[in-house]
Amino acid sequence: LDVDFTSLMEKELDEVEEGAKPWVTAVRDFYIPFSKDLDKAKDIPGPKDTVEPPTNVACEKCGRMMEIKWGRNGKFLACPGYKEDPPCKNTQNFEKLPDGTIKIVAKEDASTDEKCEKCGSPMVIKTGRFGKFIACSAYPTCKTTKPIPLGVKCPQDGGDLTQKRSKKGRNFYACANYPKCEFALWDRPVPRPCPQCQAPFLVEKYSKGAGTSVVCRNEECGYKE
Ligand SMILES: [Zn+2]
Ligand SMILES: [Zn+2]
Ligand SMILES: [Zn+2]
Ligand SMILES: [Zn+2]
Repeated sequence: LDVDFTSLMEKELDEVEEGAKPWVTAVRDFYIPFSKDLDKAKDIPGPKDTVEPPTNVACEKCGRMMEIKWGRNGKFLACPGYKEDPPCKNTQNFEKLPDGTIKIVAKEDASTDEKCEKCGSPMVIKTGRFGKFIACSAYPTCKTTKPIPLGVKCPQDGGDLTQKRSKKGRNFYACANYPKCEFALWDRPVPRPCPQCQAPFLVEKYSKGAGTSVVCRNEECGYKE
């Protein structure tokens, strides 16, 4: 129905634009044959406002039954108390088990063995809009963040290589000791030694013809997979 609905409306609008039909006639022609279907269509949920049955998971903050919502990263549980006063903004990640039960997945931040260089608190791994990164657990008091090391050491001074983004929005991989060390790569390092020449890491190369391949940076070696 949605397809017909849209294409018909578009056709009508084209005709209106071309001056073939006055707007009111166009709208009436459009609505009359469809009004019955539209009534039915109201009950068919669209992908965005799919009505999920209420869950049997109680909000641990206020006891209301959590609802399933759609977010940028898929479905999550949200407390219906967000529209109340005072609002309860509790949300949880969850997994649906094969039998349909809802299992809460802890949002807990993975710990690291690093300490914040500014305040000494442990650093934790957080998931943000652009992927994972390391942040100080004392947030928001301390706002130290840093990229997750790629597990590849700089061949010049042994510093961690981290992902950065150029001003033009292209990813590159640079030594964490920048500006002391200026080692940087456009190709994503792969934390595996070259099986042929034992170079400490390989890189991912992209070419339009061949797609992505993993290659050795050592030109004399020429290892490619
Ligand atoms: Zn709540
Ligand atoms: Zn800190
Ligand atoms: Zn370096
Ligand atoms: Zn090699």
